[in-house]
Amino acid sequence: MSFTGPSAKTIVIIGGGASGVLIASQLLRDPDPDLRVTVLERQGQFGQGLAYSARHRDHRVNVPARGMSAYADDPEHFWRWLQRKFPGQYENSWVFVARRLYGTYLEDVLREAGESIPGRLRVLSEEAVALHETASGVEVVLGNGTSLACRSAVLAVGHETQPARGRGIAVRVGSDRDTPLDTDAHVMILGSGLSMVDAWVSLSEARHRGPVTVVSRNGLLPTAHRDVAPLSIDAADVPFGTSLTYLTRWFRDLIAETTARGGDWRSVVDGLRPYNQRLWQSWPDNEKRRFLRHLRPWWNIHRHRLPPDLHAGLVRAIANGQVQLLAAEFTGIERAPGGVRATIRPRGGASVTTMDVARVYDCGGVSVDVRASGNPLIRHLVQTGAARPDPMNIGLDVDGKCALVSEDGHVSTRLRVVGPLTRGRYFEIEAVPDIRVQCASVARSLLAPVPAQA
Ligand SMILES: Cc1cc2nc3c(=O)[nH]c(=O)nc-3n(C[C@H](O)[C@H](O)[C@H](O)COP(=O)(O)OP(=O)(O)OC[C@H]3O[C@@H](n4cnc5c(N)ncnc54)[C@H](O)[C@@H]3O)c2cc1C
Repeated sequence: MSFTGPSAKTIVIIGGGASGVLIASQLLRDPDPDLRVTVLERQGQFGQGLAYSARHRDHRVNVPARGMSAYADDPEHFWRWLQRKFPGQYENSWVFVARRLYGTYLEDVLREAGESIPGRLRVLSEEAVALHETASGVEVVLGNGTSLACRSAVLAVGHETQPARGRGIAVRVGSDRDTPLDTDAHVMILGSGLSMVDAWVSLSEARHRGPVTVVSRNGLLPTAHRDVAPLSIDAADVPFGTSLTYLTRWFRDLIAETTARGGDWRSVVDGLRPYNQRLWQSWPDNEKRRFLRHLRPWWNIHRHRLPPDLHAGLVRAIANGQVQLLAAEFTGIERAPGGVRATIRPRGGASVTTMDVARVYDCGGVSVDVRASGNPLIRHLVQTGAARPDPMNIGLDVDGKCALVSEDGHVSTRLRVVGPLTRGRYFEIEAVPDIRVQCASVARSLLAPVPAQA
């Protein structure tokens, strides 16, 4: 077995989270015995990444098991795995399992893909720090000072958490500084999205009884899932390329019609999903910007929903006063006797207020500005001009085949990007049901012959 030399069909995948596993398993479906796939993962754990390394039992997936198969053309794959591993435990596939369990599934997917024809898959616990594209291939420079030569490389480096807020005083859930708290202590959580729900779940598991103040700019809470079928929407009825104002009105009318017939708004959100990438691509840049600025928070809470039991627990805690949800801007933090003093400015208000709490949890979302990336590989690519931000500055610029676009607009024939970093082109590319489709398509194009470079 040889993994050296770009003349062989060698592909290096950088990142062994969900996207890295999904692209590797798609590539390894190809029967070519000469194919060689290397997956690099700096954390040493394959299939986990940011989402599926979650520790707690109740840090759960937000897509039912029936939607989480690694293969779009075999939608029952994850459900069959679950039934094999836990016979009789789950009644049906509308179940939201622990994220760490899903990470185990992905690890199995990768192992099984490698075993299909032994000797073609290699996994390395290494960090890639630089990439050099040559006329005949790609050199992947590793943090240990060595390099790998390959014909093509795929960046599946995924998410970066936002730089910590609160001058090192605020704490990330699950970090070393997340030490046990007095269960009656007052806690503040910054952010009201899915990471806040993780923090709330961790506090509940620790039997926390004290008040929890959740602070976010918009004060919006994710909505709950319900087992409803997606509405069947004809592509001809979707207003591609119209203004955001028109689309919003069309969407609201469709929801009103559906609910008037006894249906559920979720079926409209899910029915539109197959068209989301096309809709995004049909807007000019100014409409995309308007969407990101004004509608994204609202869209996110309806699109990325919570398992119903978790949502009900949170709503109960709000109703009984334990959790207080504040629409406010977090403006500062300092150490105070017995804890920390946080300063916030309620939405629409001019004055700030302070709040003394035992701990502030930082549950900000993911960072999307690649120019400020903490990932040495992304920094290297952007600084050398081999990559550039997409026009919305929410990821890397790629073409319609997920090929990396350089600062001067050159489309790489050897470097591809999969997963959330391609959100500038696709927008709806955060979750497994979308990433698996993208990975299947990128695998197909990677296995096609590479044209000679000019
Ligand atoms: C908290 C959270 C929960 C989520 N829950 C769900 C869910 O339930 N269902 C769903 O469909 N989607 C969910 N998502 C969406 C998620 O984006 C995708 O499901 C998926 O996990 C993205 O995987 P990824 O591999 O692209 O990114 P990541 O998970 O970020 O993995 C990237 C991997 O690349 C490695 N890496 C980065 N740089 C290098 C380098 N230079 N060299 C080597 N390795 C490197 C990292 O160590 C990491 O392991 C969730 C996201 C988050 C943040």
